[in-house]
Amino acid sequence: MKIFINPGHGYKIDGSKSNKSSRPSFSQDYDPGAVGLNGYLEATVNLAIAHKLSNRLRDHAELKIYQSGGLWRGPNDYSIKDICEAANNWGADCLLSIHANASNDRSAQGISTHYQMLDTNNADKYEKGKTLAEITQSRLISAFGDYGKSHDNGMILDSLQVLRDTKCPGVLVEIGYITNPLDEIKMQQDFWQDSAAYGLTLAFNDYLELGMYPRPPMPNADKTIIECPYIEPMTDVALGCKGHDVRWIQWQLNLCGISLAIDGDYGPMTEAAVRFYQGNIDLNPDGVVGTQTRSILRTVTEYCPYREPTDTILLGSKGNNVRWVQWHLNRTGVNLNTDGVFGPMPDFAVRDFQLNNNLIVDGVVGSRTRAMLKSATQACPYNEPLRSLKQANAGAGVCWVQWQLKRNGAQLPLDGRFGPATDAEIRNFQESNALLADGIVGPQTRAKLKE
Ligand SMILES: [Zn+2]
Repeated sequence: MKIFINPGHGYKIDGSKSNKSSRPSFSQDYDPGAVGLNGYLEATVNLAIAHKLSNRLRDHAELKIYQSGGLWRGPNDYSIKDICEAANNWGADCLLSIHANASNDRSAQGISTHYQMLDTNNADKYEKGKTLAEITQSRLISAFGDYGKSHDNGMILDSLQVLRDTKCPGVLVEIGYITNPLDEIKMQQDFWQDSAAYGLTLAFNDYLELGMYPRPPMPNADKTIIECPYIEPMTDVALGCKGHDVRWIQWQLNLCGISLAIDGDYGPMTEAAVRFYQGNIDLNPDGVVGTQTRSILRTVTEYCPYREPTDTILLGSKGNNVRWVQWHLNRTGVNLNTDGVFGPMPDFAVRDFQLNNNLIVDGVVGSRTRAMLKSATQACPYNEPLRSLKQANAGAGVCWVQWQLKRNGAQLPLDGRFGPATDAEIRNFQESNALLADGIVGPQTRAKLKE
């Protein structure tokens, strides 16, 4: 079975211009598609979904993935005419065009599947396209869970060149609105992209009867943007203390994988967890949460509380070595219990990580997988914003700024909100780097932040 996949906009993917590592310039060679408020590009998310989809489908169907250079222009790229010709010449069984929607109304959200109007010369294609659209829309909605159920914009009868001028039945999906600030943040997450790929995989599995058993996407905890609901204590906290000060400590300890009840009671369990944590970060393990322990707990997600293993870890392993692996995997976007048990879920996650990092996919955590896990969790998980940001802005672009500031030693929450604290840190940073201290994160400040 031959599936032709067309991630909308961007460069053509199989040509010399395709270069994942370089940031696109907005030249005539590149069509970004719709652009979100924080600078995320439709072409980027379309392509990311297509990659994830091809990872899922490639062993079960023949695939061709061509990214179009634009729906309306692009002499150097694939025009829609080229896309249609390529699909027709190849003899595709069906075609999928992947897009994200855009609207002047920033509150617009939702997922829709577009199919082609009746061509009286080819009623069979119309019927098949309609069936594919029904399956695609329902599978996409279910793949997005609760979000999908409340954001179902349905099937839309349309006339689109990419569907009209291809011989095979096809659909064009609009997965979310990149112009909606909430969707824009979600779209950048692995979990969103893989939910889309999962829904589309289910659809083709049904429509082409591929006999697959696709695994669901792993939820992305994205813990870094959850703010601690308790205030950091001002005094030392130790065995016997009670209240919100203790809850702050328990909450922070849980962030790094220790499972404590957040009951505000500094009992023996909490004390043991504190001692364990202190020991692992080379502090005196006295069980008293003083200034030093607090200052590290505050930035707890940046310090793995477990020592790096020296031996090989695989299915069936147990203990803190496994917790080290689980902690690092969680920082790549999966959501595992840091329980020290290497069961099927960590095994899946390791294999997925290995697949995505060009390692041997054996589920065994040896020195190479460990090294890759360490370097992957050090990379900034946010995309660099393409527009200037200043106080009152919000979103993933601000997370990028905060992440870079923290890497440069600033103490501030990674909450995606450009408030007074972020503003003060930016001015501070600009001043100490001989930049104009105006609090505006433009190209020069971004370049310095990255250094
Ligand atoms: Zn589009």
